Amino acid sequence: MAAARVIDGKAIAAEVRRSVAAEVEQLKNEKGLTPGLAVVLVGEDPASQVYVRNKARQTTEAGMRSFEHRLPASTSEAELLSLIDDLNRSKDMHGILVQLPLPPQIDTRKVIEAIDPAKDVDGFHPINVGRLSAGERSLVPCTPAGCIILAKSVQPELRGLEAVVIGRSNIVGKPVAQLLLREDCTVTVAHSRTRDLPGVVRRADLVVAAVGRPEMVRGDWIKPGAIVIDVGINRVEGPDGKSRLVGDVAYEEVAQVAGAITPVPGGVGPMTIACLLKNTVAAARDQIARA
Ligand code: NDP
Repeated sequence: MAAARVIDGKAIAAEVRRSVAAEVEQLKNEKGLTPGLAVVLVGEDPASQVYVRNKARQTTEAGMRSFEHRLPASTSEAELLSLIDDLNRSKDMHGILVQLPLPPQIDTRKVIEAIDPAKDVDGFHPINVGRLSAGERSLVPCTPAGCIILAKSVQPELRGLEAVVIGRSNIVGKPVAQLLLREDCTVTVAHSRTRDLPGVVRRADLVVAAVGRPEMVRGDWIKPGAIVIDVGINRVEGPDGKSRLVGDVAYEEVAQVAGAITPVPGGVGPMTIACLLKNTVAAARDQIARA
């Protein structure tokens, strides 16, 4: 029997979506405005197609307008930049998301930097990255924002906690670390060159694993009672030969020791789109306030 409380990301994401829908309704009634999200997909990556479909469906379900732009894999960088320019100017789109990865002929950095920071609902534009690290108000990357909501669902006040983030990517690890600092945690960021990773993780009251290595974090790395947020999504082959999804955390073992843990799937995963919708409404609000 697992000792840890299981953090239900599906239920918490549904709650976030409900509150977004209520805010959208209010914006429509008070300002006569419907927030719009443009999602751009270049090429035919099957995983990206699934994400884009889910994003569009959940955007519409929250009462917002969804605009999908599907471009062929052969699209040139100039063509994509020109579309982004149009989307930046459009009054109907309050958020712009370019699904990554992009085909090799396109410089991802250039594309991210071309998006109007006020519409950058992924929070990847250097202006938003800089604002986050300077502790200023900004659009915050969606998966990291979801991690904080999940941690606070079990412990609303994170102040003073020892937090260890495993992974230092620009998409997850670094922004999670910034957000935890903003919550007044004492933050350590571990990575592939960290010495004695189990020893470092053992100090943590709150662990965020964003590594991409199936079940790397073991039960004996965890301080009893710690909160464990597992961002990893890894497809592995089970003993029956069927493929299944596992996180970066050895769930069964860690759940014996931790105070609370997110499952995979059904933990961090569902939070990403919910936070994207939240960012889109926030971006729409800011844009009308400035208009
Ligand atoms: P990256 O590959 O960009 O980064 C992985 C990080 O883990 C790097 O900083 C790397 O260190 C570190 N790392 C690798 N091996 C080790 C090791 N043995 N010990 C300690 N640290 C290690 O991955 P992402 O951040 O993009 O994604 C991480 C995981 O989260 C993946 O499983 C991904 O699928 C998942 N993910 C889930 C999302 C969701 O739920 N919606 C969204 C985004 C990602 P170094 O920098 O030294 O190389």
